[in-house]
Amino acid sequence: MNRRNFLALTTALVALPHLALAQDRLTVVTSFSVLNDMVSQVGGDRIDVATLVDADEDAHMYQPTPADARSLSDANVVVVNGLGFEGWMDRLIEASGFAGSVIVAVDGIATRDMPEMEGHAGHDHGAFDPHGWQSLANARIYVANIAQGLSAADPAGAEVYAANADAYLAQIDATEAELQDLLAEVPQDRRTVVTSHDAFGYLGDAYGLTFLAPQGLSTESEASAADVATLITQIRAEDIAAVFLENVTDSRLVQQIAAETGATVGGTLYSDALSGPDGPAATYLEMMRHNVATLAAALKP
Ligand SMILES: [Zn+2]
Repeated sequence: MNRRNFLALTTALVALPHLALAQDRLTVVTSFSVLNDMVSQVGGDRIDVATLVDADEDAHMYQPTPADARSLSDANVVVVNGLGFEGWMDRLIEASGFAGSVIVAVDGIATRDMPEMEGHAGHDHGAFDPHGWQSLANARIYVANIAQGLSAADPAGAEVYAANADAYLAQIDATEAELQDLLAEVPQDRRTVVTSHDAFGYLGDAYGLTFLAPQGLSTESEASAADVATLITQIRAEDIAAVFLENVTDSRLVQQIAAETGATVGGTLYSDALSGPDGPAATYLEMMRHNVATLAAALKP
């Protein structure tokens, strides 16, 4: 072997471990943008992660594409919220021939029942509120489930996932303190608000806010005229201060309710999807901060 060939060979050998590393990265598909950010935080450099439902898109109403089936068929792990949030996922997994492991992020939270609104027509969604990510206490459980699931699929990365999860949990704790400070100035009699659909029950339970919505748990259910009339009466009777738009729902109904009742439109909340990278809710923790800051700004006297 001449010197030049020898150099080429050693260069190739040095490059090999990097190649192997790139191939060893776990391929992870997540169902929606909020979960995608959490999984990226825990998985770090050891995973390649992509979401099916993008920023500002509505996961309730999502129609999977052939490209989604292809990305699932190549994936090692899929991460879903669960509790019926992604009603389309089981069929997609089956159609794709996906043979990896499924992490259900919501497993183990204290689920909220979803009481039907009076006069609200029955609908075929789950009995529990699926929007678990809307409380930081639940997010800690999501993070633990994600770290455990990634470690099971990639045992060599277990220490990395645990360390990433710990660092992320510390950020969650810091954000929790910020949210409590933001809401401290909102008086008890100004803590009931209106949004389009019932996405914020866990946030309300965590911070002493009451959310009313003309649409039920899922954006798939239509608000009936009776529901809207009941809500308008309630807004007037209880002197509800503000109504809020959501990034994933049509704003017309809430705008109409605001016009009829004289309630202020307090801003846009990010319910079931992050904003794009340049928006105010580009990550899960930015989303939580933006939502609570928007609520507090509108509700403070
Ligand atoms: Zn929703």
